Amino acid sequence: MKDPACIFCKIANGDIPSKKIYEDEEFVAILDLAPATKGHTLVIPKEHYPDLFAMDEQTASAAMLRARRVAGLLKEKLSPDGMNMTQNNGEVAGQTVLHYHIHLIPRYLSDPEHINWKPAPAEPEVLQSVFSEITGG
Ligand code: AMP
Ligand code: ZN
Repeated sequence: MKDPACIFCKIANGDIPSKKIYEDEEFVAILDLAPATKGHTLVIPKEHYPDLFAMDEQTASAAMLRARRVAGLLKEKLSPDGMNMTQNNGEVAGQTVLHYHIHLIPRYLSDPEHINWKPAPAEPEVLQSVFSEITGG
């Protein structure tokens, strides 16, 4: 179902312009308007799903397959030194467009981005408590 107020629905539908670098029946991939690095791309399903939790498993795996395909295209054409793949769900997680999308962010040894978190070891009892909360074990 398309949401007429959604900017990515409009892009997928061709109603507003974008730099589409990939398209098939179900997905498009466009250059991000405010790229973190050269080649920052968004993989977007044409159907409107607000986030990961709204997607069925088949569409979620189809999205990952497209992300891999488009990542390969970026790697081939731009020769980055690495690539981040990230996907935000909810405002607190940084989601600003409420239509599911996967970010592909090519990384270069020379780029100044800091997309990864700083690891800090957790206390064993904290890890155990989270483990129990999730698994009941
Ligand atoms: P997120 O914060 O994960 O929801 O990501 C939304 C992304 O969409 C941001 O990186 C924006 O720069 C990008 N964006 C928003 N509007 C457009 C647009 N019209 N064309 C291309 N990228 C867009
Ligand atoms: Zn939408």
